[in-house]
Amino acid sequence: MTAQGIVVLGATGSIGASTLDVVARHPDRYRVVGLSAHRDIERLAELCMIHRPAYAGIADATLASELKDRLRHAGLDTRVLAGPDGLAELAAQPDATMVMAAIVGAAGLQPTLAAVRSDKRVLLANKESLVMAGDLFMREVRERNITLLPIDSEHNAIFQCMPPDFNRGLQAVGVSRVLLTASGGPFRNASLESLREVTPEQACAHPNWSMGRKISVDSATLMNKGLEVIEAHWLFDAPPEMIDVVVHPQSVIHSMVAYRDGSVLAQLGNPDMRTPIAHAMAWPERIDAGVEPLNLIDIARLDFQAADQAHFPCLGLAYEALRLGGTATAVLNAANEIAVEAFLKGELAFTTIPEVIEQTLHALGHAQADSLETVIEWDSAARSYARRLVADPRDRRFNA
Ligand code: NAD
Ligand code: MG
Repeated sequence: MTAQGIVVLGATGSIGASTLDVVARHPDRYRVVGLSAHRDIERLAELCMIHRPAYAGIADATLASELKDRLRHAGLDTRVLAGPDGLAELAAQPDATMVMAAIVGAAGLQPTLAAVRSDKRVLLANKESLVMAGDLFMREVRERNITLLPIDSEHNAIFQCMPPDFNRGLQAVGVSRVLLTASGGPFRNASLESLREVTPEQACAHPNWSMGRKISVDSATLMNKGLEVIEAHWLFDAPPEMIDVVVHPQSVIHSMVAYRDGSVLAQLGNPDMRTPIAHAMAWPERIDAGVEPLNLIDIARLDFQAADQAHFPCLGLAYEALRLGGTATAVLNAANEIAVEAFLKGELAFTTIPEVIEQTLHALGHAQADSLETVIEWDSAARSYARRLVADPRDRRFNA
């Protein structure tokens, strides 16, 4: 068997590290063609020394020459591709058959689309691509008939619990509900008063998963689950009223699919992203992922509760944006990125994150998301609006 070429976008992140761990376990099956990072050239150069890719992509083009120097000094002939266009070029490398899309945030959209447009198998971790431009994105996936496999643990679980022909429509294959599980994050049982005082360190200390800082904050506000409802809508063509969120603190059941006859199928496993990554890389085969086997006797019990939308309004805002449709979910995503960034810098209270998003969503309204340009315009407008709310409390209606 010849090893398949893989490009890892966002190689220096948490998903990037788990992907490279799985790749390294199977040198006969996979070889790294390209790796990318935003700014961390030191880590990127280290990864290049280990995996010896033909290409390295650096999003911040001002760091390209420094990266070239480092690679040359290390005796590597890795070619450097720089800036957003460079990342898109990396994602389209003819030598690769699959692309791991693991950039965080809106910056992931264009390189991920470039992978779709060059007919790769796309392993999708960057949920923000679907939240921003799900309609356009899925249209291209279907037109080109590419293999899109979800990496997000919930969606990967749902994919595993769906019948192979689910693309015929959920009604047609007898699916009645999609049940997304949520850990509830680190503040599942916190009081409203204590939520106001939450620090970035507390928000990033997730009880079950170790992840990048942005998604960790999203998990703490439940916006991550909101983004996942939108992601599930696009991946499985499920209307919002068919998607339920169930809080399951142990994160052992990664999600479930309920069928018309009363059957509920679940996918279980230890909370380790290498399972969905290995599943998607090898699908329809199965390979070793380095994950500890699940020990149900040690786990002993699985608990479930309803999501508390009063304490965590982000979940309801995501459902609202999905029902509004068009550019509303791109606005939701952009306002969330700005609010989370401000929270991580200590400029915004944890409980103000949903307020910034809500005002941005309601103030901007929405339009049809009929082209990528339109989506990007609305994304920028929402960022500017949310930035003003962060900078100047006098602009905030919720404080008046
Ligand atoms: P991370 O912060 O650990 O890593 C992000 C990666 O993206 C890094 O390599 C970084 O260099 C790169 N990046 C950041 N900004 C960029 C920009 N402007 N341009 C180009 N590259 C940029 O994040 P993560 O936890 O690995 O998450 C990555 C994606 O996977 C996110 O969309 C997240 O929602 C999704 N996801 C992550 C997990 C998880 O367990 N970590 C689970 C499910 C889904
Ligand atoms: Mg998830």
